[in-house]
Amino acid sequence: MLTDQDREFLRRCIELAATALESGDEPFGSVLVSAEGAVLFEDHNRVSGGDHTQHPEFAIARWAAHNLRPAERAKTTVYTSGEHCPMCAAAHGWVGLGRIVYASSSAQLVQWLSDLGVPPGPVRPLPITEVIRDAVVHGPDETLAESVRQLHVRFHRSQMQ
Ligand code: ZN
Repeated sequence: MLTDQDREFLRRCIELAATALESGDEPFGSVLVSAEGAVLFEDHNRVSGGDHTQHPEFAIARWAAHNLRPAERAKTTVYTSGEHCPMCAAAHGWVGLGRIVYASSSAQLVQWLSDLGVPPGPVRPLPITEVIRDAVVHGPDETLAESVRQLHVRFHRSQMQ
């Protein structure tokens, strides 16, 4: 289901997630790609300052709302290291962005955090398809998901020290 180009963009998301981890943030990274395959915007998680709405997929939705016409937004693809949370999925849906490709699913993250003994957060981990009508969603990729898992293990072990 995923193309080689999809995997290349997902690897960039994982690099951004690693950058977040190095800055003390949770390891999530996302990239917005145009219909022509150009990277338009990219970001990583920035919640370490205490604002837990600073997710990269939300930053992408805001950037797209300010910089792209609705017809352009619909043709984009959002790549992300981890499936959108419900807040980001809602932002994606309201702004009218296109396909979503993720390396790892929310269900995988829930399992990983449970294995690490991390208590669940305040927001339910609904799948994107429960939040956005007619969402076009691809993922996870088992090999890339393992790279994401390792970043989450490193983050939570560093928090437990
Ligand atoms: Zn989010």
